[in-house]
Amino acid sequence: MTDLAIPSSAEAIASLLRQASPVHLDLADDTPYGEWQAIGRFLVTIQQSPRSQFLLPKINFNGPLARHRPDLGHCWIWTAATNRFGYGKFSTGTRVLGAHRWIYTQIHGDLPSTTPLDHFACSNRPCVRPDHLKPVSMRENTLRSDTNPFAVNAARTHCANGHEFTEENTYWWYSADRVAPHRRCQTCAKRHNKNTDERRKRERAERRRSLQETS
Ligand SMILES: [Zn+2]
Ligand SMILES: [Zn+2]
Repeated sequence: MTDLAIPSSAEAIASLLRQASPVHLDLADDTPYGEWQAIGRFLVTIQQSPRSQFLLPKINFNGPLARHRPDLGHCWIWTAATNRFGYGKFSTGTRVLGAHRWIYTQIHGDLPSTTPLDHFACSNRPCVRPDHLKPVSMRENTLRSDTNPFAVNAARTHCANGHEFTEENTYWWYSADRVAPHRRCQTCAKRHNKNTDERRKRERAERRRSLQETS
């Protein structure tokens, strides 16, 4: 792992970044060195992954300053596809992965698929900067008790209809209070939408038929 050394100057990091990410290199001239270091540390780690060649050009390293923690620097904005909640996503060909989650796990190691990541520093959903993210530990802390109804729910590995809450099958969303994230089973959601569509179609057909009969 000796090749994991962070380049020692902003120019060296810039040149590394230029090789890795030809698209979004417009960092301001007065970017503090600490910020270059964060990028350098990120680059040398993520370049271990064969996916980095494809992913790095999709990141704009010059996003806005983190809203709640400006000391943590600029957001790194995912410029490619996002899901309908605004989180970055990409496809591996067989699976769709959350960009911020994937990047976070490259830096910090694996994360259970049931543990959501919170943009605690910036509340900026397309941001993929690993140090703007943290696992939502509040859940783990408050959800220890098995009498707590939230704990019972969080411990479930399958939905009410028996589909497993895997990474792909789980949608995390926040209610307006943003207290705790909720899970939704994607299989059930799709089936529900399909059933609703079919019911509406059936109802329309029936209405048409009854109109014809009365006329
Ligand atoms: Zn951010
Ligand atoms: Zn389900």
